[in-house]
Amino acid sequence: MISFYPGPSKVDENIPRYVQDAYDTGILSINHRSDEFMELAKLTVIELKAKLNIPENYSVFFVSSSTECWEIIAQSLVNSGSLHFYNGAFGEKWLKYTEKIRSNAIGHRFEMNDKLKTLEPELDTDTICITQNETSNGTQIHNYQIEELRTKFPGKLIAVDATSSMAGINLDYKNADFWYASVQKCFGLPAGLAVVVCSPKAVEKALEINDTCRYNSLPSIIKMMQKYQTTHTPNVMGIYLLNRVMQDRKNIRFIDQKIRNRYSMYSALLDEVSLKHLVENKEVQSYTVIPVSSDIKTISRLKMEARKESLILGNGYGNLKETTFRIANFPSIKMDEITLLKNFLLTHR
Ligand SMILES: *Cc1c(COP(=O)(O)O)cnc(C)c1O
Repeated sequence: MISFYPGPSKVDENIPRYVQDAYDTGILSINHRSDEFMELAKLTVIELKAKLNIPENYSVFFVSSSTECWEIIAQSLVNSGSLHFYNGAFGEKWLKYTEKIRSNAIGHRFEMNDKLKTLEPELDTDTICITQNETSNGTQIHNYQIEELRTKFPGKLIAVDATSSMAGINLDYKNADFWYASVQKCFGLPAGLAVVVCSPKAVEKALEINDTCRYNSLPSIIKMMQKYQTTHTPNVMGIYLLNRVMQDRKNIRFIDQKIRNRYSMYSALLDEVSLKHLVENKEVQSYTVIPVSSDIKTISRLKMEARKESLILGNGYGNLKETTFRIANFPSIKMDEITLLKNFLLTHR
C-alpha cells in the first residue's frame, strides 16, 4: 500500500533500519537526563537549523503535537489577546482551543480563494495566529505575505501553524515568532512529536509573562532546553528518528524545488484528466496538499478503485469529506510512487 494521506503520511523508507539502530545502540532505554540524551537533542537541533535554514538566534523545542502548541501559545504567549486569521478547519480548531483557555480570542475567517486578509484588531491583541498551510482545504500563505504581516503589525508576535509544510517548503522563519509542526507530515516520521521554532522575541516575551502553571509552560520548556533537556520524559525514539531522517535530507532549498515541481506536475495532470483542484485561485494553492474536487460518486469510485491498486488517497477533511480527496505532496513520497498514481488517474478518469 502506498499512502498519499496528508498525515499521518507515508514515512521515510529508512525508518525500519533506523528503529533497529535505535534498539541496537541502546538509545531507546537512555535516561532523558543523561549526557547521551543531551548530545542527541543538541545534534538534532543543529541538524534542523542547518537543513531548514532556521536563523542561528532562534530556539528549537520538542513537544508532543501541534495540538499541544495551540494550548502552549494560549497559555504562555498570549497576553492581552490573540487575533486569528483563518480560512479552514485547522485554523478554526486553533481558535476554538484558544477560546476555551482565554476569553480574548478574536477570529476573522477569510474565503478559501482569497489571499490572507489582515484587518486591524478591534480590541487589544498582542499575538497574531495564522495557519501557513491549511491541510483541510489545500491553501497556503506565502513567505512574502507573512513578511507583509510583520511589517503591518511590528509590535505583535506572530504564531504560525506550519504542520503540513515545515520540512517540505522553504519557510522564512525570520518573518514570524513561533512556528510549529508535528512530524507525521512533511518530516515523514511516525506521529508523537512536534518541532517548535521560536524567535528571540517570543522567548523573551514568554519569560516576561512567566506562566509556570503547567508541565508544558513555555518558560519551563525554554529553561530545560538551555541544557538540551525536556520538562518530561520525551519521545526519545521520535527525536532519534528525526535526527537520522534530517541527516539524510538535502537542504530545504532543494526539497522546496522538488515539491514545487511535483505540484506543477499534479496541476497539469488534473487538467489533463478533467478533475478540479478544490481551490480555483492558483495564487493560494498549497504546494504540499492537493485537494481534488468532484461529485460524490466520482470521488468515492476513485478512492475505491485506487485502493484496489494499493494506492491510498486521503479523504477530504470535515465537511469536504465526500466531495474531495486529498493527495499529500510530501518529500518522503518517491517519484516511482507518484508515477503509479499518475497512471492510475490517467486510466481511471
Ligand atoms: C495535522 C495538523 C494539525 C494537528 O496535528 P496533531 O499532531 O494531530 O496535533 C494541526 N494543524 C495542521 C495544519 C495540521 O495539518
